[in-house]
Amino acid sequence: MQKPLNWLKRYPAVILLLIIVGVGLFATHVLATYQQITIKANVVNVRQGPGLSYDVMEQASKGESMNVISQKNNWYQVRLSGDKIGWVASWLVDNTEVSATSNRVAKVTYTFANVRKSSNSTSQLLGKLNKGDQITVLYQQNGWSQIKYNNAVGWVQSSLISVTDDAPTTVQKTTTTADSSSTTQTSTDIQSVTTQLNDTKLRSGPATTYDYSKTYAANTKLTYVSKSGLWYQVKDADGNTGYVASWVVTPSATDEVVKTSATSLSEATIVLDAGHGGSDVGALSTGDKYEKTYTLETVNAIAKKLRAAGANVVLTRSSDKFIDLAPRPVVANKIKADAFISIHFDSSTNANEASGTTTYYYSSSKDNTLAKAINAQTKTLPLTNRGIEYGNYQVLRDNKRPSVLLELGYINNDTDFNYISSSSYQEQVATAVYNGLTDYFK
Ligand SMILES: [Zn+2]
Repeated sequence: MQKPLNWLKRYPAVILLLIIVGVGLFATHVLATYQQITIKANVVNVRQGPGLSYDVMEQASKGESMNVISQKNNWYQVRLSGDKIGWVASWLVDNTEVSATSNRVAKVTYTFANVRKSSNSTSQLLGKLNKGDQITVLYQQNGWSQIKYNNAVGWVQSSLISVTDDAPTTVQKTTTTADSSSTTQTSTDIQSVTTQLNDTKLRSGPATTYDYSKTYAANTKLTYVSKSGLWYQVKDADGNTGYVASWVVTPSATDEVVKTSATSLSEATIVLDAGHGGSDVGALSTGDKYEKTYTLETVNAIAKKLRAAGANVVLTRSSDKFIDLAPRPVVANKIKADAFISIHFDSSTNANEASGTTTYYYSSSKDNTLAKAINAQTKTLPLTNRGIEYGNYQVLRDNKRPSVLLELGYINNDTDFNYISSSSYQEQVATAVYNGLTDYFK
C-alpha cells in the first residue's frame, strides 16, 4: 500500500467515476417498453428484493420466461404466476424485447373498452377499443389486463375482453409456497413493507383463506411486525394490524448484510479492486517493477474465474489508470455489492526482509467472516500465510459492504516477486478467492 499523493488534483477522475457509477450501475427506473427475460442459468432464485440479502421466494429453471416490471441494482423485478412479484439477478437471465407470439391474443367482447394508463378506472385514458378488436394481453391482475397498445402498454378491464386461451404465460413454480404455513420467523432486517399493487388485502391471518378488513393502494408503506411463512404481519398508519402476502409487497431495502442459507456465488455481485494505477504505481520490486501492474493482472485472473462461475463482477479499474481511494468503496456501496476485495502487494523497508500473504479487514462484524473464508483458502498459496489482521484502510473503512484487502506477497522480496509476477501464481490466487467466496456464500 502506498498513499497516492495530491488526490485533490485528481478530482476530475473522481467525478468521472462517480458519474459512471451513478448512471451506469445504480440505475433505478421502470422500463419504458415492455420486456421479457428468459432464465439462462440452470436454476435461479427468485427473491423478495433486489439482492442476496432478501429471502428466496421460489426458484426458476433454465428456459423459463418472466415479465420485467422494473430494474434496480442490476436486478430485475419480475412478475410470477399468481401475480407474485419477485427479483432475479439480471446477469443470470437473457433479456429480450417481448414478441407478440409469446403472449395471449384476446378480443374485445363488450361494445367498447377504455384503455387506461394503469389498472384502475380513474387513471388516465389512453384510448378506446371497439368490439371485435384484437389485442395482445401481456398479463392480468385484479380484474385488469395489461395489453400492448400503440407500441406501449395500457390496461383494460378483463371483463370486457375474451382471451383465446386460459393459460397465462407466466413462470412455472418449482418450489411449493406454503401460504398457510403458521411457522413464525423473525426477520429483523425488515422495518417496513410497501405494497406493489392496488387492492392489496389486509387479512386477519397469514393465508388467503382469512377474511380481509382493509385494502391498500399501490405504494402504501406498512410497518413490519413479524413474518409468518410467506406472509408479513404489518401495521398501517391508522394502527390496523393484519397480514399481507409477501409477494405483493416489497420489504424495505436495508444496508444490513443478512446471509441466507440458499445463496450462491452465481447470484453474488463482487467488486474487485486492483490497487493503485496510472501515476500511482504502488510499491516497487527490486528491479523497479510496479505493484500496479500485478494488482491488475491478479484482479483480471480472479474476475475471469468468478465470471465463469456466473458471478456479477465489477472492477474499480480495468486498465492502467489512476483512480483515487475514495471512489473505490463507493462502487461497492452504490451497487450494494455482496463482497469487495482489494488486491495489493506488500513492501518492507529493506528488500528481501519479509515474505508472505496477509488478509486485512476493518469491521469485525461486517468483514471478519469474509476475511476468514478467504484467508482459509489463501493458506493454500505457496507463500507463508501471515494471517488475518485489522487494517485501517480507506477502501475498507468507507465500505458499507463486506470487504477485505489482500496483500498477496512482498513485491520487494525477490522470491515473492517471482510468484507475484507469474500467471500460475495469479491463477492460484484466483482459485483461492473463488473457493473462499464459495464457502462464504454457502
Ligand atoms: Zn498497495
